[in-house]
Amino acid sequence: MIPKVEHDLCIGCGSCEAVCPSIFELGDDNGLSHVIEGADCNLSDCCEQAVEECPAGAISFGEE
Ligand code: SF4
Repeated sequence: MIPKVEHDLCIGCGSCEAVCPSIFELGDDNGLSHVIEGADCNLSDCCEQAVEECPAGAISFGEE
């Protein structure tokens, strides 16, 4: 299961990175969150919490 960050919605608050640093990181370029390459929520139990705590509702689980 790979999460997806909607950059149009993300406000760069850093909550997802704080909750789930193995999956999300803020970009050096734009300050917005992105999913770390190779990250897999099946191997981590913090993704749902990151989705719940995102104040912008920017994280979802895509089918891709
Ligand atoms: S918690 Fe949501 S709004 Fe905050 S950085 Fe992560 S994706 Fe962006």
